[in-house]
Amino acid sequence: MNSLQSLQTVIPGRPHTSYRGRFAPSPSGLLHFGSLVAALASFLQAKSKQGKWLVRIEDIDKPRELIGADKEILKTLEAYGLYWDEEVLYQSNQAELYNEVLNHLQHNQLSYNCHCTRAQIKQSGGVYLGTCKDLNLPAEGAAIRLKNQFPYTEFIDGLQGKVIVNSGLAKEDFIIHRRDGLFAYQLAVVVDDIYQGITEVVRGCDLLEPTARQLTLFKTLNAHQPNYLHVPLAITEQGYKLSKQNAAPAIDNNNPQPALIQALQFLGQNPEPALMKSSVDEIIQWAISNWQVNSIPKKQEIML
Ligand code: GLU
Repeated sequence: MNSLQSLQTVIPGRPHTSYRGRFAPSPSGLLHFGSLVAALASFLQAKSKQGKWLVRIEDIDKPRELIGADKEILKTLEAYGLYWDEEVLYQSNQAELYNEVLNHLQHNQLSYNCHCTRAQIKQSGGVYLGTCKDLNLPAEGAAIRLKNQFPYTEFIDGLQGKVIVNSGLAKEDFIIHRRDGLFAYQLAVVVDDIYQGITEVVRGCDLLEPTARQLTLFKTLNAHQPNYLHVPLAITEQGYKLSKQNAAPAIDNNNPQPALIQALQFLGQNPEPALMKSSVDEIIQWAISNWQVNSIPKKQEIML
């Protein structure tokens, strides 16, 4: 068994015989309209393909977590008729697996320790140029970077088409384990997408660019790459993306119909007026049966 094959024994993964999608919120705040759009799109895409829809709570960044947000997010998904198919996966329970993957990467000389500070990288133009690559620096106080052997300067997105990625960014040896001891988002998201056998990632366009890095990591791990489909982001009149950081208002669990209809319209679907008076489950059933992925606007942002 060569070293890359052995990585597949670290992350068992699953056969990619049927569609598996996911929604992966970070519990740093409650769900807002933008997150509803991403959740709904990934759910409808999975259900219209008779696939499974999974929910993963991305709680690796404990300092940024809002206590109890995970439970609230799950309650909101249920209130909006978005029922998941398997047990919810919490990233905080995956540390052992992430560490095994980090060890394998290190063992195969596919990663290295880096002591550069953010200020130093800024000075050299904002892109990390591999300064520590051959220095064999101690692990103490270091970030771990991936030796990027497979840069993706472009990829095909299921909705946006061909996406060109800034080549400096695509080639960068990016961080997979942070200096403060936290696992990096890129590592955790890819390991879990492999672990959960995800066949297609449907999410907001804010994660369009990081997709290139994720493809790099899948390739490095010799793992099956999912397809990607990025739906437009809802932005405010001032041009801000609706986000937890911008304190976008949480959606109402007690009156889900209007936001659900609005989210369907945002996704270019054409809900019948009669649905306004229907139950959440009826709206969802209609949306699954009438889901037209080709009707989603190919824009990266839509002003609300
Ligand atoms: N946890 C990320 C977020 O809430 C999403 C990750 C993903 O969908 O890949 O923004």
